[in-house]
Amino acid sequence: MHGGAVQQTGTSRRALCCGTLTALCCLPALRAQAALLADQPLALAEVAPGIHVSQGVHAEATADNLGAIANIAFIVGSAGVAVLDSGGCALWGRRLREAIGRVTPLPVRYLVNSHVHPDHIFGNAAFRADTPEIIGHAKLAAALAARGAFYLDKVKAALGPLAAGTEVVPPTRAVADRLEIDLGGRTLRLQAHPTAHTDNDLSVLDLATGTLLPADLLFMQRTPAIDGSLNGWLAAIDALRRIPAARVVPGHGPTVADWPAALDAQDRYLRRLRDDVRAVLKAGGTMEQAVDSAGRSEQGQWRLFDDYNPRNVVTAFAELEWE
Ligand SMILES: [Zn+2]
Repeated sequence: MHGGAVQQTGTSRRALCCGTLTALCCLPALRAQAALLADQPLALAEVAPGIHVSQGVHAEATADNLGAIANIAFIVGSAGVAVLDSGGCALWGRRLREAIGRVTPLPVRYLVNSHVHPDHIFGNAAFRADTPEIIGHAKLAAALAARGAFYLDKVKAALGPLAAGTEVVPPTRAVADRLEIDLGGRTLRLQAHPTAHTDNDLSVLDLATGTLLPADLLFMQRTPAIDGSLNGWLAAIDALRRIPAARVVPGHGPTVADWPAALDAQDRYLRRLRDDVRAVLKAGGTMEQAVDSAGRSEQGQWRLFDDYNPRNVVTAFAELEWE
């Protein structure tokens, strides 16, 4: 999701109410809701042998979805487990930890944080007892130091009391370029990327099955959110295309096997956005004019388009006006 971003849409109004205004009146209801959510087993799909994915919903983070709007995965080797992102709050992270325990008794040795956004890493606190190595991009720690408190406030506002226990948990190991981790008979290749979706994107390739988990370097169905660099993201797409993957688990959207064609829709949207913003700039137009026009032809192709496209235009305008 986007850097700024727990938006107050229609569906999250109740979350805002519960978080800030009427805690007394709706706390019992929230407790009941929390119990209900905790009782529901996490829905997991084993997309390749030993790779289990919880698919996020195409919505903003709310108390109803516990912030589970991004795809979260864990990969099981013969000696241990790597968790690839931890979800949007500690309560959901605990549900993920329980779900892992139902699949394997092996220890969680690694917690990979794909990037700074709260829908991906705010379940970290649920893994404290495992004392895993928490691995992120070399720039993740700085991004978390700059934004962590702000994001935590946003999560608390959206989830209310259900955000209890959610904390900013920094990485313990930084990846500047590439790192391979061994789960026992299974190697994961972690790649740090130049600025694209954010300035701290880390992708994971499971060498055993050829499964690529690029996190938010790939959005499918849900409108891509630019929080780094539009040109950088287009370059990252070109780099991702060269990875010979058998399937891809995007940061948002379904797991698919048509690789690298899975990149095409996002590539098309970002190029459309770039070309439209450049055209406005060339004509001497304003940012407001760009917001009204850029990317509009893509409107019917993406979920949450009106929430994210205007912000993307603003970000792209600021980047491209200095070309
Ligand atoms: Zn993101």
